[in-house]
Amino acid sequence: MRILITGGAGFIGSAVVRHLIANTRADVANLDKLTYAGNLESLTSVEDSPRYRFYQADIVDAEALDGIFADFQPTHVMHLAAESHVDRSIDGPADFIATNIVGTYTLLEAARRYWSKLSSEQQSAFRFHHISTDEVYGDLEGTDDLFTETTSYAPSSPYSASKASSDHLVRAWQRTYGLPTLITNCSNNYGPYHFPEKLIPHMILNALSGQPLPVYGDGGQVRDWLYVDDHARALVTVATRGQVGETYNIGGHNEKRNLEVVETLCELLQEMAPPGSCAIAKGASTQGVVHYRDLITFVKDRPGHDVRYAIDASKIQRELDWVPEESFETGIRKTVQWYLDNPEWWQRVLSGDYRLGRLGDKSET
Ligand code: NAD
Repeated sequence: MRILITGGAGFIGSAVVRHLIANTRADVANLDKLTYAGNLESLTSVEDSPRYRFYQADIVDAEALDGIFADFQPTHVMHLAAESHVDRSIDGPADFIATNIVGTYTLLEAARRYWSKLSSEQQSAFRFHHISTDEVYGDLEGTDDLFTETTSYAPSSPYSASKASSDHLVRAWQRTYGLPTLITNCSNNYGPYHFPEKLIPHMILNALSGQPLPVYGDGGQVRDWLYVDDHARALVTVATRGQVGETYNIGGHNEKRNLEVVETLCELLQEMAPPGSCAIAKGASTQGVVHYRDLITFVKDRPGHDVRYAIDASKIQRELDWVPEESFETGIRKTVQWYLDNPEWWQRVLSGDYRLGRLGDKSET
C-alpha cells in the first residue's frame, strides 16, 4: 500500500502517520500546507523512516496535487487536511470555505485525474477516504437519540457546514464518476499532540500555569470522546477494509458534559502533577486558589453552540470488527501524563517556535 495522507502534520493526521509507520508496511506520504495547526514536531518518531515522506502543499493548488499524485503514485488517499476549530470558523469562515470545500473539491478532481489513468485493476483497488465529523449531523438537544449513518445533515457552525459540504462532494464523486470513496464521521478526539486551542489541552496547560479554566455557558454541552489512537486505528481499518460508497460513524461510547471533562482533568492534575510543576503547587496564587477546580470560570456561551452530540458506532463494530481500546478513564489519564511528560512539545507550540521547524529535511515541494 502507498497511502497519501493530507493533513498529516495535524493532530489526528499525525496519529495516523505514526500508526501506519509503526504497525504496517505501508509507504506513507504526508501532504500538508503547515498552517498554524500543522506541526512537524509531532512526527519526529517517523521522520527518519524510509517509508515516510513529506510534501508541503496546499490542497487548493491543483498543479501541486497533480505533481504529488504523479510522484508518489498512491493506492489510497486519506483526506484529513482541514481547518478544524469551530471558534475560528465563527470569527473568520473564509479559510474554512477555501480549504474544507474548495480544497476537498480540488483534491477529488486531482484524485480523479490520476485514477482515470490507472489500469482497471488498479482503479478498483484505489480508495479515497474522506475523514469527517459527527458535527455535520447537528444537535441532539432534548432527545436520547444517537447519530447514525442515515441521520439527516443539519450543521450549525461554519466549520460543520463546510465539512457537511465536503462530505456531499465526496459522495457525489463516487455516485457520478465512480471514484471509489469512503466517508467516516467521528466524535471529539483527544490525546497526545493535540493543539492547545482545543478544550482538553487548553485546560491542562492553563491549569498548569495557574490560569483560569474558561467553560462555555454552564458547561452542560455533551460530547462523545474518542482517544486519538483508537480513531487512527479505525481510519486505517476503514481505508483498507471498508465498503466503497459507505459511510461509517466512529465514536467512543463516552458521552460527557464539558464541565465533567474539565473537573476530571482538575482531579487528575491534582493527583498526577508533581509538586512544583505549576503556579498552584508553588503557592504562587494570591487568590486563595488551592485546587485546580477553583480555576474554573464560566464564560459567555459560543453562538450557535450545539448542546448534545452522541454517536452510534455499531456499524463499524459489526462490519469491520473495530472497537475502541481506551475507555475515557484510561485515555484521559494517558493524555494528562503525556502533557506532563512532554513540556518541550507544547512549550514550543505556545511560544510559536514549532513553526521554525516547518521546512524539515524531508520537504519535497
Ligand atoms: P488539525 O487542525 O489538528 O490538523 C489539520 C491539518 O491540516 C494541519 O496539519 C494543517 O496544516 C493541515 N491543513 C489545513 N489546511 C490545509 C490546506 N489548505 N492544505 C493542506 N493542508 C492543510 O485537525 P485534526 O483535529 O487533526 O482533524 C483532522 C480531520 O479530522 C479534519 O478533517 C477534521 O474535520 C476531522 N475530525 C476531527 C475531529 C477532532 O476531534 N479533532 C473529530 C472528527 C473529525
